[in-house]
Amino acid sequence: MVADKAADSSNVNQENMDVLNTTQTIIKSALDKLGYPEEVFELLKEPMRILTVRIPVRMDDGNVKVFTGYRAQHNDAVGPTKGGIRFHPDVTETEVKALSIWMSLKSGIVDLPYGGAKGGIICDPREMSFRELEALSRGYVRAVSQIVGPTKDIPAPDVFTNSQIMAWMMDEYSKIDEFNNPGFITGKPIVLGGSHGRESATAKGVTIVLNEAAKKKGIDIKGARVVIQGFGNAGSFLAKFLHDAGAKVVAISDAYGALYDPEGLDIDYLLDRRDSFGTVTKLFNNTISNDALFELDCDIIVPAAVENQITRENAHNIKASIVVEAANGPTTMEATKILTERDILIVPDVLASAGGVTVSYFEWVQNNQGFYWSEEEIDNKLHEIMIKSFNNIYNMSRTRRIDMRLAAYMVGVRKMAEASRFRGWV
Ligand code: GLU
Repeated sequence: MVADKAADSSNVNQENMDVLNTTQTIIKSALDKLGYPEEVFELLKEPMRILTVRIPVRMDDGNVKVFTGYRAQHNDAVGPTKGGIRFHPDVTETEVKALSIWMSLKSGIVDLPYGGAKGGIICDPREMSFRELEALSRGYVRAVSQIVGPTKDIPAPDVFTNSQIMAWMMDEYSKIDEFNNPGFITGKPIVLGGSHGRESATAKGVTIVLNEAAKKKGIDIKGARVVIQGFGNAGSFLAKFLHDAGAKVVAISDAYGALYDPEGLDIDYLLDRRDSFGTVTKLFNNTISNDALFELDCDIIVPAAVENQITRENAHNIKASIVVEAANGPTTMEATKILTERDILIVPDVLASAGGVTVSYFEWVQNNQGFYWSEEEIDNKLHEIMIKSFNNIYNMSRTRRIDMRLAAYMVGVRKMAEASRFRGWV
């Protein structure tokens, strides 16, 4: 069934809107459909707080470099805010704001007791030493320490941040707070109170919803041809899970290019050779461009890198019948519209990538109770939540004749709007 065009999430014809405008437009449509008044949109269209910080770091060459960072807290009506910290040269205030709103939506979709937040630092960790990264991570925590904490706002990893960075940040926060405080941050190493299954959680969640979407489209995952853009935390674990499930991962990419083999790539070999930033294509001569990647003959495409990758330029050429968004914001509004018209099923980012924050929630619960669960328990709980969330949103999109993105926004925004109303904010 093709979704009702008048009611899909992309009926505003603006390819060049930034990610914040895009998400605001869809939130507005979702609130309108749910019957909320304008004041609810006014409240939810921007984060309630954004802090900009300047972090001086003594670099290895002896000079001081001052980095700019942000922490945006979208809405804490439901509970403390939660979301990762991104280290990337392209970080902007607008992007961090949009990312914080997406975190609120994810928590609403998988029904966690959180609002959304996001942090970012403009830097290129690929060009920084271990010592410089430690100083930057600790400096960021000192700069935002007043507004974060285990009952206020709980950070986590995101693009180019990992468990080591979470460990430094937890240590710095514990020094400021004067006691050992593992529940301040999630995505920690297991020995510091991290959770089993957290590192691969985003990819596991993506795998679960991808399987469900494949069933709906009558695609057998065994032998299905999958293209994955990005070989970072989400993309690399995903490639492994799909490969192990019998899918043919025919292409993967990193920031420098893409690898393609119609017979399926040797994923174990590539995982072995990737560096900690997910770079692997540099080792090969026969690469294809990131643009060509989306036009390959395949059944399923998973963008697992950054924003605005599927656009009106390439959406017409996509041959897959399912797009599962492991990255945040990979598809523009126009591209969503084109794909929906072509009856390509989009499993939206705020649903598909919610496995990460779900297992972060399990980590935080374990830290708070001081009692830890096995990987099997974590997996079972994650599985149940992702299946339920997928079906809830899929069924809603079918009965209301809307695309899955708008359905996901409606589910994601409802709890926040209700909680804000009960608190007397709107
Ligand atoms: N950075 C991840 C995301 O975008 C996870 C956030 C978290 O675990 O709090 O969903």
